Amino acid sequence: MRVLVLTGAGVSAESGIPTFRGKDGYWRNLDPTKLATPEAFARDPQLVWDWYRERRQRIRNARPNAAHEAIARLAHQTEEFLLVTQNVDDLHARVGVAAEKMVQIHGDIFVTRCSRCEFERHEYEQEHEHGLPRCPDCHALLRPSVVWFGEQLSRNELERVEDFLGGGPCEIVIVAGTTATFGYIIDWALRASRDGAQLIEVNPEETPLSRFATQQVREPAAIALPRIVDEVITLG
Ligand SMILES: [Zn+2]
Repeated sequence: MRVLVLTGAGVSAESGIPTFRGKDGYWRNLDPTKLATPEAFARDPQLVWDWYRERRQRIRNARPNAAHEAIARLAHQTEEFLLVTQNVDDLHARVGVAAEKMVQIHGDIFVTRCSRCEFERHEYEQEHEHGLPRCPDCHALLRPSVVWFGEQLSRNELERVEDFLGGGPCEIVIVAGTTATFGYIIDWALRASRDGAQLIEVNPEETPLSRFATQQVREPAAIALPRIVDEVITLG
């Protein structure tokens, strides 16, 4: 069986990681959709770093939920599987989804990279740094390796999604916890399900993708996904 899963902020929100949208996402009264931009970083890199360091710490303290576990189970039990997540946290990885079966299309919050050259490093541990980190190679400012609003998606990661989509039709496509506001999420879901796949949307609210779904599940992902994965595994 060939399965594509797309996840968004709703799945992490159920682990207590605030989404960018709505009141909960605000930080020091600032709108995250304005902080997560190259313009904000150019204007006030310290502010942007303070925010990201807090987010990193919050994610380190968070635990994967039943949705993450269900998706990992599906990844293990399916021959051809890809998870494309918009989430920059490590909650999918922590329950054992292998790196080669996962694309973090908006980057990885625990990677710090140079804003100028190719330098990058992982930040596994709690950070004690508070100032502005600089590149050991070229001395330019380091930044979190996430895709900010207005920036291009990584060409490498896009290619990995394209390779999977080009590898044949899917039987099952699951889209969970994303508002599907980015056109590419809808595009991938539709292309993966083009040959009659089941397109299952899991979201408490209606989204632009809903009208294309063969099954709409209006429940939180942590409630719905364990059940859906059981059904899919039985089918396969
Ligand atoms: Zn550099």
